Amino acid sequence: MINQTNVKYGKSRSAIRELFEYGKKRKAEIGEENVYDFSLGNPSVPAPAEVGEELTRIIKETDPVTLHGYTSAQGDFSVRKAIADDLNARHKTELHADCIYMTCGAAASLCITLNALLNEGDEVITFAPFFPEYAVFTANARGALKKVDCNRQTFQPDVEAFKRALSERTKAVIINSPNNPSGVVYSEQVIEELCAALNEHFEKTGKRVYIISDEPYRELVFDGIYVPFIMNYYPESIVCYSFSKSLSLPGERIGYIAVNSRIHAFADVYAAVCGAGRALGYVCAPNLFQQLVKRVLGKTSDMSVYRDNRDRLCAALTSYGYETVQPDGAFYLFVKALEEDASAFAERAKEYEILLVPSESFGVNGYVRISYCVSADTIERALPAFKALAESYK
Ligand code: PLP
Repeated sequence: MINQTNVKYGKSRSAIRELFEYGKKRKAEIGEENVYDFSLGNPSVPAPAEVGEELTRIIKETDPVTLHGYTSAQGDFSVRKAIADDLNARHKTELHADCIYMTCGAAASLCITLNALLNEGDEVITFAPFFPEYAVFTANARGALKKVDCNRQTFQPDVEAFKRALSERTKAVIINSPNNPSGVVYSEQVIEELCAALNEHFEKTGKRVYIISDEPYRELVFDGIYVPFIMNYYPESIVCYSFSKSLSLPGERIGYIAVNSRIHAFADVYAAVCGAGRALGYVCAPNLFQQLVKRVLGKTSDMSVYRDNRDRLCAALTSYGYETVQPDGAFYLFVKALEEDASAFAERAKEYEILLVPSESFGVNGYVRISYCVSADTIERALPAFKALAESYK
């Protein structure tokens, strides 16, 4: 018999993908412009002009045998060095090329990191709401995902609940800020409290717990809000980064893992990352895009478009009576469903051709996620439907 867990994963799509597929079908039936599709986190802003220019230059100027050839398994040295130098300049860290492992995006970064760290039965804590694939990635790395709720007013991690959840089996904590799906940026105070709790746990039990910081939305923040860089707060930390959102390149599959140079037993942890990459077959991330990101480090797509979308949506939805969590980053709005059952609410929204992801798969009940990485025009056209949906509950 083949592996039944994977049969199950393959046959059941995530709630997000399910809705996205429904949207494609519905658009074919009634016309693209008549469906308000807020299902997927696919950037709606084009990559910055430098991306196209540099790609052309790289293709023209690089020997094709080299360009299309294998790099080192962990990525081209000059690319890894450039990334380490860039992080050091921005965050005052002391990373070097051999702290970096190039990957096919944040998903691969997380899978490699979890496989590098976990032994059979280890626990990984994360804060609900969370990106649903954490459960799949953790299970695949032989671990068990344990969720700790965020505070329901602020959607910041509940530090007291976190302390209670720590156990002898806790191996890692995944944090994701700016957060998918809440859009919340975890505050410096909360980060400091989480790190203090882990230091205390180490003193008590001798167990080192790693923080895995999943950061595809790092640069996607509004109003100059500060996003603490985890390596400056906690040595036992690994960053899983992706260029999918910051450069609007999700289809190109490029990102990296950065292992803190101050992590205990650094050489073994980095070796475990390289080993997990090898065991999974996740080696030699696409070289064309490795070379590209080296040349455009620090550049981002035009984030002001997302801020304008957030402002327009938040103001309109609030005026119709919806309650939303104030998002400081990413391109998601987490909205309280107008009935207890978020799935039933999302089904009702479909009657108004609005596609919203119910919150159960994010680990909490009673909310829906709106991905507002869509055109401003889609938002304007969707507003009357949102209004009518709210009125249907009055
Ligand atoms: N982590 C979070 C929180 C995400 O939202 C996503 C994608 O939406 C990923 C990881 C996966 O990102 P990538 O496309 O870089 O694999």
